[in-house]
Amino acid sequence: MTTSLSGWGNYPVLDCPQFFQRQVDSIRSLLLDQQSSSLIARGLGRSYGDSSINVDGVLNQTSRNRFLSFDSEIGLLHCEAGVSLDEVVQTVLPQGWFLPTTPGTKFVTIGGAIAADVHGKNHHRDGTWGQHVRRFSLMLADGSILECSPTQHSDVFWGTVGGMGLTGIILEATIQLMNVPSSYVDVNQRRASNLSEVFDLFMETDQQYKYSVAWIDCLSQGSRLGRSVLLLGNDAPAELVQASRRRQPFSLPTKRCKSIPFQFPGLAMNRLAIKIFNGLYYRRHGDKNMLVDFDSYFYPLDSIHHWNRIYGRRGFVQYQALFPRETSRQGMTRLLEIIAHSGQASFLAVLKSSGAANLGMLSYLFDGHTLALDFPFRGEKTIELCERLDQVLLEFGGRVYLAKDSLVSAEHFSQMYPRIDEFRELKHRLDPDSVFRSHQSDRVGLTEAR
Ligand SMILES: Cc1cc2nc3c(=O)[nH]c(=O)nc-3n(C[C@H](O)[C@H](O)[C@H](O)COP(=O)(O)OP(=O)(O)OC[C@H]3O[C@@H](n4cnc5c(N)ncnc54)[C@H](O)[C@@H]3O)c2cc1C
Repeated sequence: MTTSLSGWGNYPVLDCPQFFQRQVDSIRSLLLDQQSSSLIARGLGRSYGDSSINVDGVLNQTSRNRFLSFDSEIGLLHCEAGVSLDEVVQTVLPQGWFLPTTPGTKFVTIGGAIAADVHGKNHHRDGTWGQHVRRFSLMLADGSILECSPTQHSDVFWGTVGGMGLTGIILEATIQLMNVPSSYVDVNQRRASNLSEVFDLFMETDQQYKYSVAWIDCLSQGSRLGRSVLLLGNDAPAELVQASRRRQPFSLPTKRCKSIPFQFPGLAMNRLAIKIFNGLYYRRHGDKNMLVDFDSYFYPLDSIHHWNRIYGRRGFVQYQALFPRETSRQGMTRLLEIIAHSGQASFLAVLKSSGAANLGMLSYLFDGHTLALDFPFRGEKTIELCERLDQVLLEFGGRVYLAKDSLVSAEHFSQMYPRIDEFRELKHRLDPDSVFRSHQSDRVGLTEAR
């Protein structure tokens, strides 16, 4: 069945034959019978760009969504790779366990979380998703299944963690979850009047708080450049929840989600509208302490289904920039100045602090700061802006994130990821004919473009 597919940003959109095999034997037959000359696995399509689309074939894995076991004594979860983080949380949180780290949406599969080696608001403390994966099984291009862990085929393990589906199909995995005292976060909200102040606050509080994230108004300029609202948090103790909410510590909030029913006209996201929204957001969020349920703290955007439609038919691109700690103030200032002058606006951008890098060959984060921005896609104008931002990243030793990217060139990508040759070598050994490839892997030079 051929379907128009894209990532969450709705750019680019390609017509892709989509396969839905869930049984191991039928996935193997799909590979061996060469029903398509190449293939890429797809989860819930929450990567923003073109990492899970391919005009030859896309293998949708969302129906491989069975839980295989859960040991609630030690928090060890074994499940198929199409299980979503939402399904995991619904099952384990009432038993006192939560995800070891979580992206800003829960509509992500276990396979997608491993392939992108996703991170959350606690990277400076707990690292990435891959660091909590105990093992997984991987179907290779020849149909064989390899058992991988940090000690067994560790090169394949660390090539697959962050490897964006290019080493094979992750079939099932075992994850170490994290023990939590309640389903609430004890949040300290702080306002920072500019970028320098928010960096100081991050530095002062990194040791004190497990979670931290700042929402930045990237349209403010001059002395207010980078003004932000910082949300610092720790898991809320059960007694605090009971005392202040008169609720059971693990009660899950019942919420009614709203939905954007259709694509907005592109003009809805103009600079003026974004400026007004960002200004209001900043003014309404003063310094305070509050108890916030996990859903509102970790997944504020999930309460509006299809929010990506507000960017209209042309879609949008997300640009996530990472700078090393030594250069991040300078690099981010340059980035924000370019954006503020470009006439292209981003809704509130998200700034996070990141800790040490892991062993993933293509894993994104290293010690520093990362800023995620959304730009409505305006053709050449947006492409040129992102190229300018890439230059700033290269100058300051930074990089973009494959799970968000839809534009970076092969030349820039190879300069940003120094272990690219090691990954290519592994890829060649496992998959000499590049059966596993995506529109993105061809674009960034991880596979040879045809
Ligand atoms: C609102 C929002 C907020 C986000 N916030 C964050 C964040 O804070 N931190 C962060 O790190 N990311 C974040 N992301 C990105 C998201 O976590 C990743 O892109 C994730 O990989 C998406 O998972 P998915 O199941 O939707 O996979 P898809 O988008 O469908 O695929 C992503 C990659 O995973 C591969 N893949 C999927 N399943 C398998 C499988 N079974 N075997 C092998 N490869 C597979 C695909 O080939 C592709 O390369 C966010 C995304 C959104 C929309």
